[in-house]
Amino acid sequence: MSRTYAIIAEHRDGKLRQVTLEALQAAQIALPEGGRITAIIMGSQVDSLADELAAYPFADIHLIEHDSLRHYHPEAYLAALAGVLDTIRPDAVFIGHTAVGRDLAPAIAAKLKAGQLSDVIAAESSGEGILFTRPVYAGKAFEKKRFTDFPWAVTIRPNNFPAVRTAGGAKAPIVKIAYSPPPTLRSVVKDVVLKTSGKVDLTEAKIVVSGGRGVKSADGFKPLEELAEVLNGAVGASRGACDAGYCDYALQIGQTGKVVTPEIYIACGISGAIQHLAGMSQSRIIIAINKDPEAPIFKMADYGIVGDLFEVVPLLTREFRKV
Ligand code: FAD
Repeated sequence: MSRTYAIIAEHRDGKLRQVTLEALQAAQIALPEGGRITAIIMGSQVDSLADELAAYPFADIHLIEHDSLRHYHPEAYLAALAGVLDTIRPDAVFIGHTAVGRDLAPAIAAKLKAGQLSDVIAAESSGEGILFTRPVYAGKAFEKKRFTDFPWAVTIRPNNFPAVRTAGGAKAPIVKIAYSPPPTLRSVVKDVVLKTSGKVDLTEAKIVVSGGRGVKSADGFKPLEELAEVLNGAVGASRGACDAGYCDYALQIGQTGKVVTPEIYIACGISGAIQHLAGMSQSRIIIAINKDPEAPIFKMADYGIVGDLFEVVPLLTREFRKV
């Protein structure tokens, strides 16, 4: 039987989020032969993004556009999706393991009476079903889950699947879906306060420069910000640094913060507590800078620099500027 998978496309600041194209890769791996993948994009003034999506190998793009969808709202987004989900009856839905995806995926699963799996980092397809891998116990173990039946919804951890490239050739057709907001919503989005760690989104950054209590003050983050800027990366932090008031909690990485999987993670003045490792241990390369040679972070690091971060970080920035 031919299957239809749906990708919920995410965007921010007028740009498609990379995780959408990574979710497409995961869907392509998991799609049985003869299946089709459709994209759904919602928002206000997103027709240019729908057009951009159409260049990727989707069967079609469903565009739901309305001023009231400018900011993510759980009830409104689910109401907007309801009609299109009823029409296409997807066998599987993929969305990024982002703040929006984590909120929306269980609601979609409930609507479709589907199974749901979060934080997927690998997918395999075989005659016995689709096998997904995800980290459990704060990254200390991996769980493999096989879906042998449909439907289901999964969230994809950013930076774990390569993003699909544009297909070239004919563009996918765009289907405009009419939407009128429900007359009453139980909540209202009054304001959206953005707290970022620079130009690059922390969860999607290829390079993260993170500071811990060792940075000693809010000003102590400045050398880290400079290094991140030179490397086109984002700044993160340990909870130790957030609790001490050196930075905003939006930067916190770990069990109770954000989970990141960059290509390079540079931990500066971070001891390496298990709760911090839970948020970054899947990074491809970990570099630790710590003045204590016994710091536990060195057990996890691929490269360790024993030294004072206030000497090492500016030195790295100077050298990378030359490249
Ligand atoms: P510290 O452990 O104090 O380490 C500071 C490090 O800086 C030391 O290793 C020191 O040698 C080094 N240093 C000092 N000065 C310099 C210098 N000049 N140059 C180089 N190195 C220097 N933590 C998280 O990070 N994320 C979480 O999500 C999280 N969730 C938690 C949830 C629970 C339920 C609990 C109980 C704890 C959680 N924690 C979390 C806290 C965690 O246990 C640690 O307390 C925290 O990670 C420590 O932060 P730190 O490494 O910055 O500080």
